[in-house]
Amino acid sequence: MSSMDLCIIGSGYVGLVSGACFAEVGHKVVCVDNDPKKVAALQSGRIPIYEPGLEDIVHRNVSAGRLRFTDKIEDGVDNSQVVFIAVPTPPQPDGSVDLSFIEKVAREIAGVLKEYRVVVDKSTVPVKTGEKVAETIKRYNRAGAEFDVVSNPEFLREGCAVADLMKPDRVVIGSASDRALALMKKVYEPFMAPILVTDINSAELIKHAANSFLALKISYINAVSAICDASGADIEKVADGIGADKRIGRSFLNAGLGYGGSCFPKDIAAFIAISDALGVPFTLLKEVQRINKDQKERFLKGLRDALWVLRDKKIAVWGLTFKPDTDDVRSSVAIEIVNDLVKEGAIVTAYDPKGMEKAVEWKMVEGARLVHSALEAVEGAEALVLATEWGEFANVDLQEVKKRMMTPMIFDGRNLFDPATMKDLGFAYKCIGRSTV
Ligand code: NAD
Repeated sequence: MSSMDLCIIGSGYVGLVSGACFAEVGHKVVCVDNDPKKVAALQSGRIPIYEPGLEDIVHRNVSAGRLRFTDKIEDGVDNSQVVFIAVPTPPQPDGSVDLSFIEKVAREIAGVLKEYRVVVDKSTVPVKTGEKVAETIKRYNRAGAEFDVVSNPEFLREGCAVADLMKPDRVVIGSASDRALALMKKVYEPFMAPILVTDINSAELIKHAANSFLALKISYINAVSAICDASGADIEKVADGIGADKRIGRSFLNAGLGYGGSCFPKDIAAFIAISDALGVPFTLLKEVQRINKDQKERFLKGLRDALWVLRDKKIAVWGLTFKPDTDDVRSSVAIEIVNDLVKEGAIVTAYDPKGMEKAVEWKMVEGARLVHSALEAVEGAEALVLATEWGEFANVDLQEVKKRMMTPMIFDGRNLFDPATMKDLGFAYKCIGRSTV
């Protein structure tokens, strides 16, 4: 394989991990970010996010001279054949996508573009954004340089992003140019993954449609879990029974507190806004959102029913991140639960293996006390809420937990523990869609 020179603009969860993985397969990568603190940290060997395996891969490739960091976009664009955009696409209050980061980067690329480059949109963007990016670069590029815009949506999952990038299920490349497509195929050749080539609009749409479908699967099983709670059926057995059908599959059929994180809530809202704007409202997705919200409310109601009054109750919460194995607390249901409990006057003590630094830095859990271990969190607690299914929690000494709690009640929002074991241990145990007696 021939090594290529690549630039990634935006060194966050997607940009940094993509850059490191591209370097790992032999490409020469420069990661650009406009946050000088982040660039300085990366240049000094400090990794600003937690992602399993990332630190090693970054250090190895920096040492090998295949990966470097800069805050100068010109450096990145001048020295690369392919320029990836991996900047945020946050939601606006009405759910539609704020594309100002993408537009700004398009202008910045145009300002330094001197010769042919492939500009690749890796951020999650609404269908037809590629056209806008191309128009913008053309409008602002005084040098009149040639370029092509390509859509290459990213499907990595935080918590296993390195593995997902090194071994993707598929790579989607939306391109209208054979020249750009040939270069993109060279970029991905070392990954030996199936490549799906489409037009740009279809590639953009695939990402929103995929995330919406996964969220729909989660809401579906959560709606079924409510029926299990009402009928005494067991959601895990039901999910096994449904998931054994190859047409359905078992993944994303775990009932819990609902989806959260930096992608699903915003991408589902975006897809609703996109379909509305196109005049073909996707109302099914509104129901997906409603079920997701209800699931958390149903869980909180269970807590209120059991504890009667939440005011002044000492409640421990395990988990702040939106899922295990990440430090990402953006739009985390666990954080919402902490804040809801604090708002109701509970005295909340929370612990998360990796998410506390960002929760503090981004001022996301004001009013709760954060402590340094799972056991410290339950000291004197009248109830324990399990909000994120970290492996560490599955391995905690539950006898010790019981000893330290004032009243041994566990509300398991992720069905991490076995109800029969919890009963044997003497806990009052509530979970989701599973019989607890
Ligand atoms: P992030 O916030 O972690 O990282 C974005 C980075 O871009 C930040 O470091 C920021 O400083 C930088 N940035 C912003 N404007 C810039 C500019 N003008 N020039 C240079 N750098 C700039 O975001 P993320 O989670 O990596 O998401 C990026 C995109 O990828 C979003 O569209 C997201 O929806 C999509 N995506 C995210 C995931 C995920 O799991 N996080 C998965 C697939 C797709």
